Amino acid sequence: MTETQTTDTHKKIDLLTFTLLELKQWLTEQGEAGFRAKQIYQWIYQQLVTDFAAMSNLPLSLRQRLEEEACIGPAIVRSEQHSKDDRTRKILLELADGRLIESVLMLYPPLGESSARATVCVSSQAGCAFGCTFCATGQMGFDRHLSAGEIVGQVLYFARQLRTAPWSAPGLPGSKTIDHITNIVLMGMGEPLHNYDNVLQALRILNSGEGFNLGARHMTISTVGVVPAIRKLSQEPLQVNLAISLHAPTDELRGQTMPVNRKYPLQELFSACNDYIAETGRQVTFEYVLLSDVNDTPAHAQQLADLLVPLKQFAHVNCIPVNATAASYRTPGPDAIRAFRNVLFERGVSNSVRAERGDDIAAACGQLRTRFEEKRKLPVVAQ
Ligand code: SAH
Ligand code: SF4
Repeated sequence: MTETQTTDTHKKIDLLTFTLLELKQWLTEQGEAGFRAKQIYQWIYQQLVTDFAAMSNLPLSLRQRLEEEACIGPAIVRSEQHSKDDRTRKILLELADGRLIESVLMLYPPLGESSARATVCVSSQAGCAFGCTFCATGQMGFDRHLSAGEIVGQVLYFARQLRTAPWSAPGLPGSKTIDHITNIVLMGMGEPLHNYDNVLQALRILNSGEGFNLGARHMTISTVGVVPAIRKLSQEPLQVNLAISLHAPTDELRGQTMPVNRKYPLQELFSACNDYIAETGRQVTFEYVLLSDVNDTPAHAQQLADLLVPLKQFAHVNCIPVNATAASYRTPGPDAIRAFRNVLFERGVSNSVRAERGDDIAAACGQLRTRFEEKRKLPVVAQ
């Protein structure tokens, strides 16, 4: 797609914002047959086409009309980077209004009984209003919410890429190739629960059995801890996974790195988490970015265990060695990480450490955009 066309698509309806039912309603309003909605949905989400001309079972007149009035995600890819091992792929997308967002595909080889995974890390907003001190996106400030279509479009981009070129883990002869997206995590730019309606709409669209058909258990919302929205989420029929960005075990420390803690302190956050667990019967993941000499000592691990032991098997900690951004935080060494985790193990708190990946392509959220903005105007790579 050329840049001139991007300006045209500004006024076009993005079909990726519609559920099947809404698409049907829209078509009917246009005087078209409602049953065409299912066909279009299959073309978009099962055949993964980007072009109305390819929708061969639609009448030519409808295809032409769609071409004029609608689009299938208007974003263009400004830059695409693959890590050296090709297991982390990051794109910078330019939205119709020129805003820039990032999405990442992470490929995991099969492990034991479980098969290979392809996880898309999706952005929910351009920028972010929450200003966490260690986060590159947080330092940019808030631009705007993404539409449901702009969220869905990120997933479809990588789905098409894998369909065209399936991936198999190198060095594992005979292991199955993977040609589809298996998981989605809302861990890109932005705070998903600050854009609640559009995020839930996007997940419902991707969940639809008539379309992309990705199970809710394969979707994870990561939140900075917006308490009322966590409570609302626990009432949703769509039972997605919940991850809480905790990053500090006391109000004092959390307030220093995460301004949100002043609005929703730990007691309120944990009250909401407890209710969420009681309501859904599901485990909650607590993300904990390890910042050397800030929150990573064994004493901090003890305080973290004090918070999480009462949640029993319903809490899991994901330790994330910080990815260095513009802020002057340092990543802890392996000994500090081991000591921190040992305390959690001793206290019976389930935990894991996120393997570092994609460093050579600046995979921490917001970093690619930050670099890009320093030297704008890269050529368009693909739609
Ligand atoms: N706003 C949501 C989701 C996007 S951030 C949230 O905060 O949960 C996704 C995860 O990446 C969060 O756990 C966030 O704290 C973490 N993160 C942010 N900056 C990071 C960095 N520099 N290094 C490692 N993880 C980071
Ligand atoms: Fe926003 Fe999440 Fe970054 Fe905090 S960590 S600034 S909530 S994107």
